[in-house]
Amino acid sequence: MSSMLPRVLAALATGAAGAAFGYVAGALRGWPLLGAVVGASLGVVLSVGRDALRGRRLLKWLRGAQDTPAPRDTGFWGELGYRVEKALRQRERDIVFERRRLDQFLSAMEASPNGVLLIDAQEQIDWCNSIAAHHFDLHPDRDRRQRVTNLVRAPAFKAYLTEERFEEPVLFTAPDGRTLLSVLVRPYGEGLKLVLSQDITERERSDAMRRDFVANVSHEIRTPLTVLAGFVETMDTLPLNETERRRVLALMAQQTDRMQTLVSDLLTLAQLEGSPRPAADRWVPLVGLMRRAETDARSLSVGRHQIEVLAPPPLEIAGSETELLSAVGNLLSNAVRYTPDGGRIDVRWLPQASGGGVLEVVDTGPGVAREHLPRLTERFYRVDGSRSRETGGTGLGLSIVKHVMQRHGGSIEIESEPGKGSRFMLAFPGARLRRVRELRPVNEVPDAATRL
Ligand code: ADP
Repeated sequence: MSSMLPRVLAALATGAAGAAFGYVAGALRGWPLLGAVVGASLGVVLSVGRDALRGRRLLKWLRGAQDTPAPRDTGFWGELGYRVEKALRQRERDIVFERRRLDQFLSAMEASPNGVLLIDAQEQIDWCNSIAAHHFDLHPDRDRRQRVTNLVRAPAFKAYLTEERFEEPVLFTAPDGRTLLSVLVRPYGEGLKLVLSQDITERERSDAMRRDFVANVSHEIRTPLTVLAGFVETMDTLPLNETERRRVLALMAQQTDRMQTLVSDLLTLAQLEGSPRPAADRWVPLVGLMRRAETDARSLSVGRHQIEVLAPPPLEIAGSETELLSAVGNLLSNAVRYTPDGGRIDVRWLPQASGGGVLEVVDTGPGVAREHLPRLTERFYRVDGSRSRETGGTGLGLSIVKHVMQRHGGSIEIESEPGKGSRFMLAFPGARLRRVRELRPVNEVPDAATRL
């Protein structure tokens, strides 16, 4: 009513002004009353028409996109336009703000290291991040509003959603057939569900490896322990003469040696895995390394093999002397242990065009079939278990070598063929090599063609 009154008053005022004007104009022609009536009518029509025009202009603006300012009129329609526009602009600002918040929220979910999938009460997909899309083989846009169980068909997942026992995650293989997923559902809102997925393939693999490792270690230790226990019982229950007693003691010593070697290899492995990478500014002379490995190999071989070690160029390797010695020593001890008496073992350094170098150990032993090669550096992997144990092997040597090489930025490569011997190569990157700096007497830096 308060908005009508000014407009009625304005129409009456315009009518009154029209009547006065009509009266004066009509009086000049001798019909003042008729002039007043016509003038008043015209005044009212004009006022109402102007009002309607303003209303129409505002309506037109409202029907449009409102991307221009509202018509700036005075009075009722002007204020109405101003207030409507203000409310609209506020709403637009609120929407922009909310959209930005939603975008930030979705970006946070996108940044999650886990898969995040939102499903509604009908189990239709609302939204998923790219990790969930990858885990469940979904298309984030195309699969929206699809029923999740039509796309993720793993029976364990379907049963998990149906049974609604969401306290524990469910494990199943992803649609790619390789990835193992751990999926947890958290209900929220009215029947909505948050599905969190995690790739646990690596975790499961390392758990399995740890279990295997513990089982292997227990097995390796149990065997000599059983033998020792047998000998202890023998000594306890049987009256042995001196010769028998010595023989039993020698066999017992053999078993304790075996356990000692195993424990020492296990400690080496644990140390390699648990300590920081060897410093890159400690330089180990290559010639000394090969000389010591050769001495050890000769004493292990006791003249049963022809061992040839070609003198390396005057180089130094950056890293840990103990670790490098253990790597080269393991290769040489394997060559000696697996190559039959009378066989030949060659050790040489081969410079590479890349600036790196390869230390290779070649033997004329039994060789290894192709299918075993990729697994030789696995812990406890043996091609011939009894041969390895007979010669004091632990099955850990090559895995120690692999670790040492990785820690020195290098790698181990193996070429072998049954009946044709083996070639074990330690490849060092150029960044870990340098020429010996200080000048030494000529006879201490042998020429590459001479033998050590
Ligand atoms: P092990 O203590 O058994 O020698 P390694 O890790 O050093 O353990 O070697 C793993 C396996 O690789 C050995 O058991 C053996 O079957 C094979 N192997 C290693 N070196 C040689 C070699 N020079 N010739 C033939 N087989 C080898």
